[in-house]
Amino acid sequence: MKWSFDARIHRADQISKTHPAARDLLTFYRELAVFQKPIFEALRARSETGVGALAPYFPPLIELVAHLGPPGLADRGQERLPNAAAREDLLRSAWEDGAAHTLAADPIGRFFARVLLQPYAEYLASRGDVQAEPEARICPFCSSWPVAGVLHAEGDGAKRWLLCAVCSTEWPFRRVLCWNCGEENKDKLPIYTAAEFPAVHVDACDNCHIYLKSVDLTTDGHAVPMVDEIAAVALDIWAEEHEYSKLETNLLGM
Ligand SMILES: [Zn+2]
Ligand SMILES: [Zn+2]
Repeated sequence: MKWSFDARIHRADQISKTHPAARDLLTFYRELAVFQKPIFEALRARSETGVGALAPYFPPLIELVAHLGPPGLADRGQERLPNAAAREDLLRSAWEDGAAHTLAADPIGRFFARVLLQPYAEYLASRGDVQAEPEARICPFCSSWPVAGVLHAEGDGAKRWLLCAVCSTEWPFRRVLCWNCGEENKDKLPIYTAAEFPAVHVDACDNCHIYLKSVDLTTDGHAVPMVDEIAAVALDIWAEEHEYSKLETNLLGM
């Protein structure tokens, strides 16, 4: 596992001090990562591979969200997932139908499912080598969509990988290629940066108007992509104002 839950928690602590505008989001994210870590560890200790093993975590998750989440989210979660049958059904459909992007029309179900599916999917992915096909549109392990790009140093430059929104597997994906529509014309693939986020930029496409944020580890080796992606929420606001949209949301649904 490239970025442990401890690394995510530490990074959220660290950058909530330097990114005051995203502090509330990072604080909530941090508590979700603290909640996810023992789930990952318990699944690993028991070699548990059944998705139903996640169902008992719903009540404490709803409680955590009631205390620390955005107003109303816990109540809506309770309404959407009133009993064990509804919870197990959500987990199974979110996992078996090729993961959370199938729940785009159900943001409440998607949020709760993904908090629990992430440590589960990461545990399953950690058990073996995932054969990543370059330029694949979906995650080679769990078929989810990417939540961000990650730039790793290679030779004198950087190579882009995509980071799965659910299991955190990475797979290589050329920089001058739109993940969504396959556009290859460099002039139609602008990259936007902002001085306040030196290690995060917007990879946009002027053909399909979709964007992904990329986290550049060659600029900041301490960055943890799933956390830095959340901290740079101002770039999402900017992108949306410029009529680009994101197909896959992060853990917080943004
Ligand atoms: Zn995946
Ligand atoms: Zn495109």
